[in-house]
Amino acid sequence: MRKPILAIVGRPNVGKSTLFNRIVGGRAAVVEAQPGVTRDRIHREAEWAGVPFTVVDTGGIATVGDDMAARVTAQARRAIEEADVILFLLDGGSGLLPEDHEVAEILRRAAKPVIVAVNKVDRFDQPLPTAEFYELGFGEPIPLSAREGLNVGDLLDEAVALLPRDEAWTGDAAEEPTSVAIIGRPNVGKSSLLNALLGEERVIVSDAAGTTRDAVDTFLARGERRYVFIDTAGIRRKSRISEPIERYSVQRAQKAISRADVALLVLDAVDGVTAQDQRIAGWAEEAGRAIVLVVNKWDLVEKSSDTMDRYREAIRRELGFVGYAPVVFLSARTGQRVSSVFPAIDRARDEFARRVPTAELNRLLQDAFLATPPPSDRGRRLKLLYATQAAVRPPTFVLFVNDPELATNAYRRYLENQLRRAWGFVGTPVRIILRRREAR
Ligand code: GDP
Ligand code: GDP
Repeated sequence: MRKPILAIVGRPNVGKSTLFNRIVGGRAAVVEAQPGVTRDRIHREAEWAGVPFTVVDTGGIATVGDDMAARVTAQARRAIEEADVILFLLDGGSGLLPEDHEVAEILRRAAKPVIVAVNKVDRFDQPLPTAEFYELGFGEPIPLSAREGLNVGDLLDEAVALLPRDEAWTGDAAEEPTSVAIIGRPNVGKSSLLNALLGEERVIVSDAAGTTRDAVDTFLARGERRYVFIDTAGIRRKSRISEPIERYSVQRAQKAISRADVALLVLDAVDGVTAQDQRIAGWAEEAGRAIVLVVNKWDLVEKSSDTMDRYREAIRRELGFVGYAPVVFLSARTGQRVSSVFPAIDRARDEFARRVPTAELNRLLQDAFLATPPPSDRGRRLKLLYATQAAVRPPTFVLFVNDPELATNAYRRYLENQLRRAWGFVGTPVRIILRRREAR
């Protein structure tokens, strides 16, 4: 379940980390005297007035031009995109600085609810230095002292009141965000696709030596649906240094797949399906994730009336073991048909989590056994006693039979096809498990 997100944004040294620690009630983020030491975003769970939410320390929107500062700025921009409510923190001691105006400009473009808070107001028995912050145009500034804990409660009251609170936030499993892993060989266009899906300019993430970053998940809300793209920092970085598929990136991709509902496997239209594509598809299939195939760089393909059909044909041939995966043809570069990825993801995710009624399942399978009886093996024949759907994600069916050894692979495939004919299961693997059960 995705909780609403409150992001603390501001130039370095205004006290974001100090406030963050106050809100999460611990010493979670490292606070050092040196300006701008909190680098990457830190997420923590918090709760106020019975409302759970996620608070994000952005590490600061730095406006000076060194490489690390640019990185941190990218992080802050990301956090702003994810956020439901932005807490714009300022320093009452220093007053309004030009950098504050720059941050304000970024926030105005974000078009999100913004609360202006003026920190380091350690004494409330003196005139409050909030007047000049009005001119930022985000409404009445709230004075507080993060260090002394003054007025932080009032601030949180305001913030929580602005957090979205529709059903999606309150634990309905159907409203969980769909987690998506974008996978594929280097250079097929994974990061281009991610950026196209997010509808933004590419965010450049620098790779200064020794700044290994952990997985960064990127949230996106679109209509009623919510998505979380898994480990996107890895994708972005990979595109920058175009690292070969070596052990590190293999592990990384596999880990991302294991956390995903849907694996978006990106193929390069110019290269066609390669052995490495087959391997990567195999990981997703073995992990039992839903799969959507994306044929990217469609802008580079000379098209005639049957080009798409020929591609489909080739994919069915080369990636037959994920024949259930829908195929989307697009160009991350031109944006052509990029938006059609979302319905494909939605469908795959829904089918991945589909539960079928037990009575219908048994009726269907009994009919299937009658229509095409299993082959007999020295006079013995597979008999179905009862079936049940044991799990979703992916749909997993347990068939209680007289003797699982009697089932041939061909017959298993036949049964899977019958399930798919009845219910589709587009985009998701279907597992069939046979268990021995003595007939009464
Ligand atoms: P960040 O870089 O924006 O995350 O800022 P920090 O949380 O690291 O704080 C920067 C400096 O301001 C630190 O030395 C803090 O101790 C100090 N600071 C933070 N909050 C307050 C406050 O409410 N009052 C005063 N006087 N100092 C504060
Ligand atoms: P990644 O390594 O899979 O993340 O791939 P990138 O997103 O970095 O893309 C690799 C190269 O392919 C870059 O030069 C992109 O500009 C280019 N590229 C990505 N998508 C497309 C596309 O749809 N059409 C064309 N012509 N080039 C693309």
